[in-house]
Amino acid sequence: MPECKNCGRKWKWSEAIKRIFSLGTAIICPYCEEKQYLTNQSRRKMGILHMLLPLLLLLPLILNISFAVGFTIFAIAALVIFSMYPFIMELTNEDEIPFGKE
Ligand SMILES: [Zn+2]
Repeated sequence: MPECKNCGRKWKWSEAIKRIFSLGTAIICPYCEEKQYLTNQSRRKMGILHMLLPLLLLLPLILNISFAVGFTIFAIAALVIFSMYPFIMELTNEDEIPFGKE
């Protein structure tokens, strides 16, 4: 679970999920209300998970299953991947240089 670098408290899964989907790069800590940012490393890990999703859409072609079944697998996989985010999230006090501009 992500841990606030300002107050050191661990976020609950539900708190982390809510904050991932909030807009903007800064994420507000539920305990100290300070701004936190995702580390580049955790952004990269999320990016890899994102790249896996489109590949799942190719499953119906590879496995010769119907697109309805393929889409169901895709939807479940997307949910599983989103639910993994809090475990991947790593926080930092300072916004790092955006991924790709290092
Ligand atoms: Zn905090």
